[in-house]
Amino acid sequence: REISITTRVFEGLGDDPKRPLLIDGPTGRSVTVSGFIDAVKRLAGGLNARGTGQGTMIALMAPNLPEYCVVFHGIAWAGGTVTLINPTYTAHEVRHQLNDSGATLLITIPQFLDTAREAIEGTEVQEIAVIGDAPGTLSLSDLMGEPQEAQTPVDIRNHVLALPYSSGTTGLPKGVMLTHWNLASNIDQTMATITSEPGEMTVAFLPFFHIYGLECLANIVLAAGGGLVTMPRFDLEMFLRLSSEHRTRRMYVVPPVMIALAKHPLVEEYDLSCVEQVNSGAAPLGGDVTDRVAARLGCATTQGYGMTELSPVSHSTPPERARPGASGLTIPNTECRVVDPLTGRDVEMGDEGELWVRGPQVMKGYWRNEAATSETLDSQGWLHTGDIVRFDEDGFMYVTDRLKELIKYKGFQVAPAELEAALITHPDVADVGVIGVPDPDAGELPMAFVVPAGNPPTLEALQAHLDGMLSHYKQVRRIEITDAIPKAASGKILRRVLRDKVAGKS
Ligand code: ATP
Ligand code: MG
Repeated sequence: REISITTRVFEGLGDDPKRPLLIDGPTGRSVTVSGFIDAVKRLAGGLNARGTGQGTMIALMAPNLPEYCVVFHGIAWAGGTVTLINPTYTAHEVRHQLNDSGATLLITIPQFLDTAREAIEGTEVQEIAVIGDAPGTLSLSDLMGEPQEAQTPVDIRNHVLALPYSSGTTGLPKGVMLTHWNLASNIDQTMATITSEPGEMTVAFLPFFHIYGLECLANIVLAAGGGLVTMPRFDLEMFLRLSSEHRTRRMYVVPPVMIALAKHPLVEEYDLSCVEQVNSGAAPLGGDVTDRVAARLGCATTQGYGMTELSPVSHSTPPERARPGASGLTIPNTECRVVDPLTGRDVEMGDEGELWVRGPQVMKGYWRNEAATSETLDSQGWLHTGDIVRFDEDGFMYVTDRLKELIKYKGFQVAPAELEAALITHPDVADVGVIGVPDPDAGELPMAFVVPAGNPPTLEALQAHLDGMLSHYKQVRRIEITDAIPKAASGKILRRVLRDKVAGKS
């Protein structure tokens, strides 16, 4: 169906206009279904009346708030394009994204005004508007106009509606062009696995500026008839308290939060008997951690796989088919190939290779980056994911690691994610990140940065722990004790930061 993302979400909201749809977690302030629809239509009307709606690139730099969803859909309804900016960015990083995207209006919150003002210098941004009030600055309410009843007509398959940026794990973040068709299709494709009962509330701490939070929470949960309790930043205690108070049935998390749910003592202090499913995505996670969460909370633990370029989901798991360590089953209307990166041929069933995906959720391309687009998206519509995977006989996919991050030890390939999954099971390890460090004899040595859970473990203790778990060539060869593992907002370990740490020392 050729349908706009906003029409698709509106369709799922149900027929109770007074139902609280979006609740600001810290304050309890809520927006009802009719309040949401009305605000979206008024924002679209206002933007189009100012000539900043249809065909305009608008940047949104805000933490999770009820208004985030209003702004996103208001721009969509107006026929515009929204680029999503990480609100923890420095002025320099914001300026880069403003220039790259060509945004002409920036919507933010009063707390980020200083950064915003500094960032727009030398960009095409003509105006800043804030969600809330700031003296002398345009506000979201100033942008509201007469309600615009119909979606501004756009080419559903080709019009770029959203321009999120990839996480920048392997290089600079890339602008990813997503259409109404991409995002609306991904809702239909995940309906069976990512779901919500009418009126059910889900706590949304996953940042909306990242595609996982934006699509899986802000779009899919709402389209399924549920509501969101928004959290402007992650705080374990607040997450547990809100989940308990709102009797949430489903949690959408990333591996660091899964690890906290498995290990943190605070978890015992809240009644989480309401939780039926915890789903993790965006980065690798071993089966041991998911098993511990399942046992501790008495719920199903599932994983999904995706990337910004896939709007974002291609693999997902229904709770009744939860399988430890697996990243999910291929969702409907999606084709997969597992390809030997050297020969370009499909590998034997069960063998490892690079995952290629084709389906309606595959991005239109990278923004203003023909070279990157043609490297990733081939002429037959296959997206080359850069991830090494295998499938089991039941169709579950297992992600080994990223092609670019494999450690080359004496001619063997060691996947950092696999080592991390094994090391985290050691009782003295609270968190861990693995990289390859250059070595004249071996090529690269697997090295672990370890955050201790109690007494710092020794290299020998960790090696003894891995013996019997993994093949000998996958052994960790160096460790360094550290306070925290650097992670992106999407929960991914920033291995390049760890590599810089090592390089800076030598
Ligand atoms: P960049 O492309 O800028 O380097 P990125 O790839 O980290 O950054 P995202 O689009 O946020 O940016 O992340 C997609 C990647 O996340 C996937 O390619 C994959 O490596 C990883 N990923 C997502 N889900 C899973 C999962 N369930 N298991 C393992 N890895 C996952
Ligand atoms: Mg990527």
